Amino acid sequence: MSDEPLARCDLLLTGGSVVTVDDDRRVLDPGAVAITGDRISAVGTADELSSVEATRTIDCTGKAVVPGFVDCHNHLFQFITRGLGEGMELWPWLADFMWPVSTTITREEAVASVRLGALEAVKSGTTAIVDNHYAPTDLASTIAVADAIEEVGLRGAVARGMTGAATDVARELNLDKGMFPYTLDEELAITREAIEARAGRQVGVWPAPLNIIYVEQDLVRAAVALAHELGTGWHAHCAEFRTDPVTYPKHYGKRAVDWLGDEGLLGGGATLAHMIFLSDGEVARVGETGTGVAYCPVSHEYIGLGVMRLRDLRDSGTAVGLGYDGASGHRQDMFEQMKQAILLQRVETLEPTVSTAEEAFALATREGARYLGVDAGVLASGKLADVVVVNLERPHTTPWHRTVAALVYSARGADVDMTIVGGRIVVEDGRSTTVDEEQVMADAQAKADQLVERCGLGGLRVPWRR
Ligand SMILES: [Zn+2]
Repeated sequence: MSDEPLARCDLLLTGGSVVTVDDDRRVLDPGAVAITGDRISAVGTADELSSVEATRTIDCTGKAVVPGFVDCHNHLFQFITRGLGEGMELWPWLADFMWPVSTTITREEAVASVRLGALEAVKSGTTAIVDNHYAPTDLASTIAVADAIEEVGLRGAVARGMTGAATDVARELNLDKGMFPYTLDEELAITREAIEARAGRQVGVWPAPLNIIYVEQDLVRAAVALAHELGTGWHAHCAEFRTDPVTYPKHYGKRAVDWLGDEGLLGGGATLAHMIFLSDGEVARVGETGTGVAYCPVSHEYIGLGVMRLRDLRDSGTAVGLGYDGASGHRQDMFEQMKQAILLQRVETLEPTVSTAEEAFALATREGARYLGVDAGVLASGKLADVVVVNLERPHTTPWHRTVAALVYSARGADVDMTIVGGRIVVEDGRSTTVDEEQVMADAQAKADQLVERCGLGGLRVPWRR
């Protein structure tokens, strides 16, 4: 950054409470953020930037200006089933509900769901996403999903779910055969082609062995090699269910994260979702290698999975971000995830000091960007201009004493006024500027009706469960 004061910019957000999450964790109130092209060109107090000429100036008085949120683990295709499959254990939830959907959902239905999910995400302040897409995963569907996310305005990656041949663990868990549609070689070929087709785009593609516990070890090795060769991240579910620490050693002689570590597969763009059931040694290896971990508190609560060792993972140096985990998170609202991320830890430890609003806010922004490997997540000159404006002049955020506390404990996704991704305004006055919201919702509802009928899931629509 030059020492010359900025003379002009494209967009100036001024007068708001600017939560930078920068190295000094400055909160500037009133502050200002200048954007030029796709980058932030200056951040300072409103006074410091008062002489900057801007093509467009937006008065953010009464609002918070914050880094865009990073969603570290999602399955946008699942939102078409939102509200179904209540009160089930993980394996029946997957085997009797999510997988029958996953093995029959069409490309058109999946894309309608992804477009709806991406719209909801961006309207509640998410600017970047890892969408772990696993149905359907043919080349054209994978590309269509990436197109839909980009069309709505987000950045990030479609982590293409790969399963290869069914393993003994998969058979033991009674996994649907339809979840294993391709051979290992086919999985690699499709993923390679999808990554190459999306190279350099705002939404790329990553390899994603679906779950370390039940996919072939050779598939995991090959997927990571592909990611390293093509310079992408990679993604997987891991240590999500309480039986995983028993199941994996029974079949392979060691715990899953220990196996990844022994194979040299941790770090280097590795991003693992859930990671609830870890030994002390595994926590240390994840931290030492700079592996990313996606913490999905609402999903962990909804399915009753367990409580991730947030404090230990953070202390080990792990990049921990927050995620929704598809339909099991129901509403995409990073404010809710931040709040639950803390409250869950407090209930587990009976210790109200175990985590803070500041930590939750960093997980949703700065740490999420570190996890995803994107040059955003903080408001600082030179960073990508992924910026969100939140209206705090609402009854539920009044009185307003501390901006971070108001954001984490009181605000909600519907309070987002404006979402900017790479300098482009994709939500303004709470409305998408990129897609027709009513049309996206109508399309998703029609496709949802069609899917429920075809999968025979009408029984899950009972108005009152007894
Ligand atoms: Zn998941």
